[in-house]
Amino acid sequence: LIWLYAFMSCRALFALSGFLLEQVASGQPVDPNAMRLTAAEAEAFERYKGLLSKASELRFAGTILDMSWPDDVPKPTRALDRATLSTPDQTGYDLAHFGYAYAILHEIQHVKFSSDGNAPAEPVDEEIACDKFAFEFVLAKIPEYAIQTRENELLVRRKRAASLMLVMSLPLGVADPDYWSETPTHPSVRRRLELLAAELDSLPANDDVWLYGSAVVLARLLAVSSQSPIQATTARNLFRQLLAKI
Ligand SMILES: [Zn+2]
Repeated sequence: LIWLYAFMSCRALFALSGFLLEQVASGQPVDPNAMRLTAAEAEAFERYKGLLSKASELRFAGTILDMSWPDDVPKPTRALDRATLSTPDQTGYDLAHFGYAYAILHEIQHVKFSSDGNAPAEPVDEEIACDKFAFEFVLAKIPEYAIQTRENELLVRRKRAASLMLVMSLPLGVADPDYWSETPTHPSVRRRLELLAAELDSLPANDDVWLYGSAVVLARLLAVSSQSPIQATTARNLFRQLLAKI
């Protein structure tokens, strides 16, 4: 599901980020009822919606063998070569892989809590502590990595932050709204995304990561119901306002 959602989220980003950036940069309200999308953006939004229904089909199918695979998403097979993918699909590929890394790190902290016998008393607090461990692991040592590999530090940070945005918003893409709120064992999607936003606060206020987060949240909310206009000063501010609507 992370794989499918990674590609789905890229469609949402492509469809909505131009419009969102334009509105925020010009100080105009983001009015989801009056979105001016290019033909290509509108098509990407339709593809997003198509993949959204595929995701729920996959959730009930159990395995990808039991469903018809969407033709606009590469199949996650062992033989798949990243180099043969288009640039947008390489983004989906990378986000999904970082997403798997987050999932493993989160589970490692659960195992560590259990073997050390020091897990927080409340299951919800344990989930949050496991998220925090994974966030810190993924975001640590970026300056050292950037120097070693001669990559741009901000780009490295952005890519990793985007992958955390992907996994923390996963329930939006693959589950019905009933599953977004807090349960006895898990924090709500909104709370997890708010904690992530706090962790990423040092990113520039109009960073692409905030646009990515805003696009995935808004695209999903629009699939549920129409949304009222939002006046936002920056992309980060827009993202935070959208979280309040989840
Ligand atoms: Zn967990």
